[in-house]
Amino acid sequence: MRYLPVFLDLQTGLVALVGQGELARAKLRVLVAAGARIRWYATQGERQGEHDVRGLEPAQLARIEFAKGDPLSADLTGVVAVFCAGAGDVGVAMSVRAKSVGLPVNVMDDLAHSTFIFPAIVDRGDVVVAIGTGGTSPVVARRVREKIEAVLPARIGDLAKFIGRFRKAIHARIPEMPLRRRFWERVIDGPIGALVLSGHKDDAEAALNKIADASAFASGKTQGHVALVGAGPGDPDLLTIKALRALQDADVVFYDELVSPEILDRIRRDASRVAVGRRVGKPGIGQEAINERMIAAAKSGQRAVRLKGGDAFVFGRGGEEVEALREAGVSYSIVPGITAAVGAAAQFEVPLTFRRKALRITFLTAHKAGDADLVDWSSLTDTQMTVAVYMGMTAAPSVRDGLLAAGRSRETPVGVFARVTRPDAKAAVGTLEQLPDLVASVGGGPAILIIGDVIAHSAPWRRQNLNLTLSDILEAAQ
Ligand code: SAH
Repeated sequence: MRYLPVFLDLQTGLVALVGQGELARAKLRVLVAAGARIRWYATQGERQGEHDVRGLEPAQLARIEFAKGDPLSADLTGVVAVFCAGAGDVGVAMSVRAKSVGLPVNVMDDLAHSTFIFPAIVDRGDVVVAIGTGGTSPVVARRVREKIEAVLPARIGDLAKFIGRFRKAIHARIPEMPLRRRFWERVIDGPIGALVLSGHKDDAEAALNKIADASAFASGKTQGHVALVGAGPGDPDLLTIKALRALQDADVVFYDELVSPEILDRIRRDASRVAVGRRVGKPGIGQEAINERMIAAAKSGQRAVRLKGGDAFVFGRGGEEVEALREAGVSYSIVPGITAAVGAAAQFEVPLTFRRKALRITFLTAHKAGDADLVDWSSLTDTQMTVAVYMGMTAAPSVRDGLLAAGRSRETPVGVFARVTRPDAKAAVGTLEQLPDLVASVGGGPAILIIGDVIAHSAPWRRQNLNLTLSDILEAAQ
């Protein structure tokens, strides 16, 4: 780290801005947003006309002083920092002058003449994140900023301000520092923090004021919670922002075998991870035991996450788990995830519905041949229906036979989509008659089967037909 990030109080003095054009105006906007008082020296002698500050509020304009003199000889008394943007050689000369009088100076895009550099900023009111790359790459800084923007709750600044207002009062009530810290942790992590973050400041304030014994509140046991989180089909970038937050807040994560390692990487480092799902050759700990462990974790005050592939409520046994949590009186929340059929649809361009052609979707499971026997295939013969079959690899012959016997055409387009959204994803498309062969060709699961005319719109289908046409042409040419 070569540059120390510090936060400059711009209420303490003037900042001098030297330069003109769009670069200077961009800097001006940032400084104005930070509440600075600005003395602006336009270079090349011309006065900055009103057109240069269009869009600013009158109150902001009132904080800008248009300086007439030469910045290189102007009086710098009361100036706390110098910014040069779009100032050319004057900027370089200004840097020399600022350095000689010990003023911090930034010359835009000129590290050699800057004594401080400008970070990328995430601005949430009182919570501000500054991102620096040592001046190496503003684009990298911007990418980091986007990531932070995505995970920071929108009202995190309100939360800081809220706590700021009560700090003194709580300090007086809890003199011991460690206990005080725990008090604030409990406020931030508990229902009061959640109220502020969801925009209910008044309710949060009422709840805080209701805490009669602050020390007892701080040393009491925290209330546990279980978040049922859908992890999506594999690509970690398909986690929702809520899912990511839950993973970052968790004390313990109970995860299924379908959850990809890249997603497990997003769990908070100190959280414990417990594999509870069935694995190849191993049965898993069983649903009862999973329920018991989640309930025990929450009752001991932990924030538990139950992490499942896809969505918890699509063949994920989420319903049963929620019932168990409710019966045990444990607080819970549900975070949806992208289900495998939807992940496959996006990756391989399968429009699950299509105007006039595909008006209905059925999500079906056919884990074993036995399951397939239970399915009423006659309800699935509508050619305007797209059918997505989960856990259907081994039962593929029964799925095909069931649909054919019920009257769906042999020529119905079908797709088998394996390991969707993962690096080794694979698709095979063909006709209903070929379904078991297609399943055999994708090199292992998990895979989702999609049946219906919409498959003819998919990317692999188009590619395959293109190849056919090409080989037909080549053959004909021989
Ligand atoms: N809750 C999950 C489904 C669990 S059932 C969801 O919403 O996606 C397990 C079945 O889901 C697998 O047998 C397979 O059919 C499908 N599946 C899950 N992840 C998949 C993936 N990455 N690619 C293809 N199919 C997947």
